[in-house]
Amino acid sequence: MNIKAPRGTYDIYGPELRLRNKLIQRIYEITENYGFYPIQTPMFESQELFVRAVGSDTDVVSKEMYEIIDKKDRKMVLRPEITAPIVRSFIENKMYASTEAQKFAYFGPAFRYERPQAGRFRQFHQFGVEYLNADDVSCDIEIISLAHSILKHFDIVEDTTLNINTLGDKEGRKAYTDALTTYFNNHHDELCDDCKTRLETNPLRLLDCKVCSKKEFFNGIPNIIDYVSEQSRADFERVCRNLDNLGINYVVNPNLVRGLDYYNDTVFEFVTNEARSQNAILGGGRYDNLVSDMSNKSSKCVGFAFGVERFESLIDKAHVAQILELDKHIQTDIYFAPMNVEAQDMVMKMIKELRDGGLVCEMPRAPRALKKQLQHANNIGAVLVIIIGEEEIKNNTIVLKNMISKEESILTYEEFLESIMEEGCHE
Ligand code: AMP
Repeated sequence: MNIKAPRGTYDIYGPELRLRNKLIQRIYEITENYGFYPIQTPMFESQELFVRAVGSDTDVVSKEMYEIIDKKDRKMVLRPEITAPIVRSFIENKMYASTEAQKFAYFGPAFRYERPQAGRFRQFHQFGVEYLNADDVSCDIEIISLAHSILKHFDIVEDTTLNINTLGDKEGRKAYTDALTTYFNNHHDELCDDCKTRLETNPLRLLDCKVCSKKEFFNGIPNIIDYVSEQSRADFERVCRNLDNLGINYVVNPNLVRGLDYYNDTVFEFVTNEARSQNAILGGGRYDNLVSDMSNKSSKCVGFAFGVERFESLIDKAHVAQILELDKHIQTDIYFAPMNVEAQDMVMKMIKELRDGGLVCEMPRAPRALKKQLQHANNIGAVLVIIIGEEEIKNNTIVLKNMISKEESILTYEEFLESIMEEGCHE
């Protein structure tokens, strides 16, 4: 067979998937400490959702969406991000009817037709939170604090730098965009070809051009903080003040604009300190106008998302396995060693009862030599082994071997059950 997984995708299984599942479970627990609860939305949505929410000038929408025409000629896309779907859900499910905070956490795949490289996939996974009805700057601070807590929990916060900036409100952003346009027009000859186009469509995008940002003229570009309103400036100062107060280190980066159009005021990004091309780990910001742009309702919102693959590339897997107590769960409590088919059939019933009772039990696929079975039991870290052969069937007994003390005893299965209920299987 020569069929391969599509370029930019990968299979995950065995210990790696086990680690990821536990990791995600733990991250959900951390978000619950902050009052965020899970939400799941479909993996495909109408194309229009992202065109309207994310913006048709953005790379994500103009170049990177996987488009599907369904059997009724409707234009669907595999979701390239998950904020717009949650806003759609908020509106569709009339969550705006409550003025209470609506706090959601999500995990799932997102799809972007990008050129694959280390840390950049066509199907990747995002974990994120969205805080809807987030009327106050305290919500921005709360979610940055949450992002920090997640990174800290896995001991990687020191490997990252938090960049923050304000994009101002609609008017401030417009004033700044005009100033940038004038500035870049004066340096038109020095711009790369991509930036010449960006200047026409989305001048803010020039700020994170990897080519132009290295050129001399970039040092003199206007600073956004000089263009935003008093309120935006005061809000941004409050964010900074509180981060200081929380002991969260950050760098104010006036060139941080983020790739999606819907942001205003606070934007932030945790990037790796290591020099690598895909260094953005977690990004987010405020989007106060998205709900009103998409409906006749309004709700101020703030959120973040991080790429799970990039997050995993930062962690020390052995250390995280300890943090997640993964080894504890993998231990086999009891290994059953049947010596013939009749014994194996008996074992299947016993093992079901014990597994249903919460014990980790294992048996071979078919009876094998005892030596092999004991070797296997040892390899999987079994604490107890129960051996049942012809003799035991005849006498209605079992042989119980403790793999730690190496002691062996002969008893009835009922006696064994009684002892295990009293003492557990680790005695
Ligand atoms: P964005 O929605 O672009 O702000 O992305 C949020 C996060 O998702 C980024 O900080 C990355 O960690 C991750 N991410 C975005 N695009 C990709 C990709 N193509 N492959 C892997 N991770 C990605």
